[in-house]
Amino acid sequence: MKDELLEMLVGKSGPSANTLDHDKLVVVGAGTMGQRISHAAATKGMDVLLVDVSQDALDAASNNIKETLDHEIEKWALTTSEQKALLSKIKFTTDFNQIANQIYIIEAIPESIELKQNLFRELENHTISEAILITNTSTLSITELASATRCPDKVIGMHFLNPVPKVSVVEIVRGVHTSDETYHKALALASKLDRSAIEVFESPGYVTTRVIMPMVNEAVQVLMEGVASAEDIDIAIRLGYEMNNGPLAMADKIGLDTVLVWLDTLFHDLGDTKYRPCPLIRMMVRAGFLGVKSGQGFFRYDDDGEMIPGSGLTSTALDRFRTVRKQS
Ligand code: NAD
Repeated sequence: MKDELLEMLVGKSGPSANTLDHDKLVVVGAGTMGQRISHAAATKGMDVLLVDVSQDALDAASNNIKETLDHEIEKWALTTSEQKALLSKIKFTTDFNQIANQIYIIEAIPESIELKQNLFRELENHTISEAILITNTSTLSITELASATRCPDKVIGMHFLNPVPKVSVVEIVRGVHTSDETYHKALALASKLDRSAIEVFESPGYVTTRVIMPMVNEAVQVLMEGVASAEDIDIAIRLGYEMNNGPLAMADKIGLDTVLVWLDTLFHDLGDTKYRPCPLIRMMVRAGFLGVKSGQGFFRYDDDGEMIPGSGLTSTALDRFRTVRKQS
């Protein structure tokens, strides 16, 4: 990894002036995914323009990416100037006009068909004909998204998973109108980012979200019924099935608001009750317990987003809510 970074920093795999457009990635939305896609792309030598409507979100993204790099620098013994060079590959802006002349534009804004359709309509006014519009949606229809644009053949899904720098797979999702040319451009981007790409045809939740969400939902149901504590549920699944994360910690990392929208979409689009969101997820979202990003989910997190040991919800989530209320 260090070699790759150094190679990029001294310019061997970095962008040259006449290939700049192909070596630049525009990321729209500076939240959980936008930050990490930007970080992963910069690490692979791409210049990144990270765009958000909120300056606060961009400031938070800049801080988070720097903190992550601080940890990585310790790990790989990189110098401060190497860190600076990596950070300088990411530019932050609220100005959509800066998107002009770029080929790869990926959105990572909240999971709402209206928001994403409005964004794609807006993006079309700022892009050149060679550009492809990529969505990181986990559950929404690419065809429906594309229907809001003048060029549905240029719309495609690239579903990165969290945490992006560590997960090496990306689902490339074709809508009904997606052209082969767009598909091959997306494949080229996946290759630049060193991802294993799998081809997926449009279906709610594709492969990864559709397969993992029933397990997350069932884990929350088990917690709500008081069968076991959050800690023990996650230990059981982690050790029992050799997974890095238990389903409840995974839900906290994704964001419980995002998990709820995914389940609602799967339930609505597939019409199968196995995707019906457990009421505890809805209750927690209404209470503002969104997981890592709010500091409280099925576990609690410190200011650096690290899980506080022994903080998992116990016996029933309702007991935990009562405790939280008494403490506040
Ligand atoms: P998030 O809520 O953390 O961040 C969304 C960002 O988008 C915010 O910074 C917000 O200010 C910005 N935004 C909102 N409207 C905008 C607009 N019109 N233009 C520019 N910026 C705008 O969301 P997230 O968890 O990063 O999810 C983003 C997308 O990625 C969703 O479609 C989600 O389904 C998908 N996804 C999320 C995960 C995950 O683990 N969180 C994993 C895979 C895919």
